[in-house]
Amino acid sequence: MITSLVMASAWIMSTPVFYILIVLVLTSAMISTIFFIAWKTLVQKPFTLTWSLAFLAATCQWTATLARAEFPNFQSYWLTTNALAMILITLGVRGHCQRTACSLRPGQLWLAAGVVFAGVIWTSVVTTHVGISTALVPAAAALSLFLSAAIVASYREAVRPAEYAAVVMMILFGVLQVIAALLALRQGAAGNDEYRAVFQHFNFLTLPAGYIGVSMFIIFMLASDLSEKMKEIAVVDQLTGLLNRRGFGEQGAVAYASARRSSRPVSVIMTDIDRFKFINDAHGHAVGDRALQHFSAILKSGRRTDDTIARVGGEEFALILPGTELHDAIAVAEGLCADIESTPMQVDEKELRMTASFGVSTISKNDTGLGDIVIRADRALYRSKRAGRNRVDIESSQALKYKGGSLRPVAAE
Ligand code: GH3
Ligand code: MG
Ligand code: MG
Repeated sequence: MITSLVMASAWIMSTPVFYILIVLVLTSAMISTIFFIAWKTLVQKPFTLTWSLAFLAATCQWTATLARAEFPNFQSYWLTTNALAMILITLGVRGHCQRTACSLRPGQLWLAAGVVFAGVIWTSVVTTHVGISTALVPAAAALSLFLSAAIVASYREAVRPAEYAAVVMMILFGVLQVIAALLALRQGAAGNDEYRAVFQHFNFLTLPAGYIGVSMFIIFMLASDLSEKMKEIAVVDQLTGLLNRRGFGEQGAVAYASARRSSRPVSVIMTDIDRFKFINDAHGHAVGDRALQHFSAILKSGRRTDDTIARVGGEEFALILPGTELHDAIAVAEGLCADIESTPMQVDEKELRMTASFGVSTISKNDTGLGDIVIRADRALYRSKRAGRNRVDIESSQALKYKGGSLRPVAAE
């Protein structure tokens, strides 16, 4: 046993293939570890574990290729390495599906892999067609790379740079695998040493770079997912899913600049739940939190897609309405005020009613930023509170501009 191992390793060590395989084993093990650590500590997303297992299968596949001399016969070696390659391919695509929530079911992927593997058994054990037997796995790899590229590219409207790079890399590697499959086929049914050598040279020239390249770009994509998540956490309020004060500031700057550029109006509504302390005191903090979610859902429903809704304080919310004049913004605020009053929340089979006060303001020519509009809307909100709550108000300086609607006339203060 030891002697045969030494002889086998002496043979294999004399070929460049040995060094390529060692690099593939070590790289696969490292990438598998990276995805495992990512799964354990960073995101706990299932696709990171799936990819860790995929690269574990790859580690076993390259190790089996290295230990070829240890297999009792060629067929057992051939079926083992091909089975491991199909596991790698299937888990690879499955990971992309999990990441993007695509509609392909795991059963469908395993069935397709099973069909390819049955083809490998048929052509290597039953009929012995060397060309097809060698071409099947590279062909399946090419298809799975194209499929993964399509899944990543169709995930969202705006493909991010890391995703774009991964898609390009997967298509390139897929094309190389198609060429490898065609070269493998040329060996014909009985096999041909010359074509076999061409296939092997091509494979060992392109496979490491393609395989490691795709892996690196997928890790880059994971890093980009994480940075996107961090950005999202920084601007989104976790309780309501609305933008937080910071997100509101960023969106506000964009909306203000766009309004100035296009000479279109932009309005701001500030709102604050009435006597919210009472809800917390009477029903507890958890019900208070649910009330905030209930309130957010009402603010969200029926809003236009370019409107911004944010939770800017404890029970204080703000809306930015691009392209909206003061009187239209007042109508929106009055609609929300009525909706909130008429939509109770269920608490222990009882209805909890709440109301909110609103302040509305619109852009005016002396404004230097959205902050100026927000300050006026805030003052209007304060007036609304002082005037008895559950109502909409505008700031006195803008009252002159407002000539209609159901808002009560605002007396000069
Ligand atoms: P007003 O009509 O004058 O607005 O009365 P109010 O009771 O709503 O006024 P105030 O702004 O003083 O109270 C806000 C309360 O909101 C106090 C704070 O404990 C509560 N609060 C702030 N953030 C949260 C939160 O995340 N969850 C819960 N449950 N309560 C919160
Ligand atoms: Mg309040
Ligand atoms: Mg408040």
